[in-house]
Amino acid sequence: MLGTRWLAFCGLFWLAAVAIAPAASVREKPATCPYCAFAFQGLEVVAEDFKAGPPDPDLFVRPMSGAPREFFTVWTCPKCYFSALATDYAQALTEDDKKRLAPQLKELRWLRPQGMAEEPTSQIRIPAWFKHKAMYLCYVALGKPQWILGNAALRGCWVARVYHDPIDRDRALAQTYAEMTKAFEQRHQKEIGEQRAFALYRLHLFHGRLFLDDLRNGRFTEEEKPLAAFIGACFLREGGEHGSAVGPLNEVLSHPRASSVLKELASSELFLQKVEEEFQRLALQHFEKALADNEIPDEERRAFCTYLVGELHRRLGRPADAAAWFDKALANANTPKSIQDWAKAQRQLVSGGK
Ligand SMILES: [Zn+2]
Repeated sequence: MLGTRWLAFCGLFWLAAVAIAPAASVREKPATCPYCAFAFQGLEVVAEDFKAGPPDPDLFVRPMSGAPREFFTVWTCPKCYFSALATDYAQALTEDDKKRLAPQLKELRWLRPQGMAEEPTSQIRIPAWFKHKAMYLCYVALGKPQWILGNAALRGCWVARVYHDPIDRDRALAQTYAEMTKAFEQRHQKEIGEQRAFALYRLHLFHGRLFLDDLRNGRFTEEEKPLAAFIGACFLREGGEHGSAVGPLNEVLSHPRASSVLKELASSELFLQKVEEEFQRLALQHFEKALADNEIPDEERRAFCTYLVGELHRRLGRPADAAAWFDKALANANTPKSIQDWAKAQRQLVSGGK
């Protein structure tokens, strides 16, 4: 059964959306590690169960329900930690590849997150962000092209974004959360109803901002305030604006009325915020290099990449750089219309930055 640290908490109580994926969506698939030959159970997505909503502006396609496929499509060998896309597992590694991987795999053992068993019994027991970090580092060791490295890091951003420690490990906190969110929903029934046609990431951002507005406008009791800051921050991070989540999360940490569990949850959110930011820096660096080295022959992919560099700069808080790259994407007549639309919309967000 899917379990451990999970993302259900931010499952938009009003949409009942991001819940644990139903078992039928994922099934086990026998895998053999190409590095150490260990046999284990990988996972396979039963694609039909995943309904995709409109993508986030960094091209993350979220399912409308269940967990994103990226949680399952990277495998980490429980013995040696070799990690790769499931589709790459069938490719044999040369002796030279193995030599290059050896020091990296040794290091990965020390990088594994707190609470993860040294030899996990299931792929589900390995946090998705760690699987992506391990995959990224294995691909670096194998000398994969910059474009592939950028994509591996970009996927890491996505999984870090939707990953949260469950709040229901503390019953009292979960109860207060349920009551606060119910009251919030009733208070803003009209505005929330008007947003239903939005993409999921925009709904998250909308709710996050509204929660923090309510906090500033004195809508919560003294006891509720730290939890309200936490909820607002989680929604902003889930919506993709992790930089805006840092302030409210730090407020939780220094709030005299925040419980120790809530502070632990806020620390975990701040850790995941850093994980996403680090993945974004890596993706940006590799995509910029791929473009500079003319590594991407395909015109459409190059346009995607140019736009993404702009969006990653924007998310990392560099509006002037973002604007310059969006302009570059817009100036290219070969940029597909869908990307032009994205570039225009995101360019507007940073228009004051130039
Ligand atoms: Zn292995």
